[in-house]
Amino acid sequence: MDPEQNEKDSILDLETEPESPLSLSIDLERLDGHEWTLQDGEERRFPPPSDFLRDLGEQGNRPMPLEHRIPTMTEDVARNALVSFVNSKCCYGNKAAGELVIQDLRQLTLYRYRLETFNESRLSEWTFEPLTSNLVDGPQNGTSPRPWDIKVQTPPLFHDDTRKFRVPHSSLVKACHKCHGHGRYKCSGCQGAGWMRCVSCSGTRQRRKQQRRCQMCSGTGRKRCSTCSGRGNKTCMTCQGEKKLLHFKQLIITWKNNVFEFVSEHQLDFPGELLSKVNGENVFKDENVLVYPIIDFPKPEISLASQRAIAEHNAAFTASSRILQQRQTIELIPITEVHYQYAGKTYLYFIYGLENKVYTLDYPERYCCGCTII
Ligand SMILES: [Zn+2]
Ligand SMILES: [Zn+2]
Ligand SMILES: [Zn+2]
Repeated sequence: MDPEQNEKDSILDLETEPESPLSLSIDLERLDGHEWTLQDGEERRFPPPSDFLRDLGEQGNRPMPLEHRIPTMTEDVARNALVSFVNSKCCYGNKAAGELVIQDLRQLTLYRYRLETFNESRLSEWTFEPLTSNLVDGPQNGTSPRPWDIKVQTPPLFHDDTRKFRVPHSSLVKACHKCHGHGRYKCSGCQGAGWMRCVSCSGTRQRRKQQRRCQMCSGTGRKRCSTCSGRGNKTCMTCQGEKKLLHFKQLIITWKNNVFEFVSEHQLDFPGELLSKVNGENVFKDENVLVYPIIDFPKPEISLASQRAIAEHNAAFTASSRILQQRQTIELIPITEVHYQYAGKTYLYFIYGLENKVYTLDYPERYCCGCTII
C-alpha cells in the first residue's frame, strides 16, 4: 500500500458514514418538552389551542341580492367578440366571422359562489447548519415557547406564503455526523491517495509500441487526482469544514388560501371549468374571521353551496390549523348561446364572462397551421 494512503486512513471514508443526523437524535430528545417531541425524525404538525375554535351556532347570513344589470347581448357585440377571438387564433379564418348570419341569441345568467378560507398551520422539524458563531441559544437561556405562542407577523390576507423561524432556546452544538468532526473526508476519486494511475500507459510509464517514456505522465505512471487537486481529501460539505454543527428546531408556518367554488347548474353544452377563469358581477361579499352560511338566497342551490362549503372548510381546517379569515362571494356570470348560419349550415358558439370570452367547437373556417387547436 502506498505510504501516502496510510497517512490518510485517519480521515473517514464518506461511504460508511450516516447520511442523516436522525440516528443521533437521542441527545436532541432531552431538549424536548412535551409539545415538541419528534418521533422517528418526522415533521410534526401542531393543532392550534382550542380557544381558536369557534362554534358557528345557529346564526345565519341573509344577503340582500342587489339589483345588478348584466348588459344585454346584442348582435354587434356577439359578432365583435367572435371576430376578436378568431383573430387571436392562427388556425381560424376571419371571413366566416364577418359574414355569418346570427339567428338567435340566448342569454342567461349563472351564479358563482366562492368561499375562501385563509388558514395558518404550524409544524416543526429539527434542522442544522454549520456552526459559525459561538452564540448558541440553547436551553440554558430558558424553555422554548410552544409553537402557537411564537408571535409572527401575518402576511397579507388571502395570499399563500411559507416562512421558517428558528425556535428560541432550542439550539445545540454537535460534532458533524458526516465527517465525525474532522471537517474533511477522504477523496472517493483517488481513495485518499491524491493521484491516479495514468490511463495512457496504465501505470507502466512507457508507451508500449515506441518503448518510449509516456508523455502523458512524464514517465511517472501517475496523474494528479483532479477531484481533490492532489490533496487526497475534500472539505466536508455538510459542515463546510467547520467540524461542528448547530442543531435547532425550525418552526415552519404555512399560510394558504383554500377556495371552494360552486356554479349554479345549467343545461348548456359548455365546459364548466371555463367559468372559473372569467370575471363576474359581484352581488354579494362577506368577510370575517369566520363567516356564517347564507340562508334564504333566491337561488336555493347557492344557500346550500354556502352551507356545504362552510361545513367542509371548518371540518378540514379548524382541527389542524387556525383560520385567520374567510370571505364568501356571489357573482353573476353572463353566458350567451349564439346560433348562426354560414354557407347554408348552422353553427353555435358561446360568449361568457364580463370580458366576453368566446368558446366554439365547430367554427366553419379552421386550418391546421401546426399549433394546438383549442
Ligand atoms: Zn482525489
Ligand atoms: Zn503515463
Ligand atoms: Zn463535516
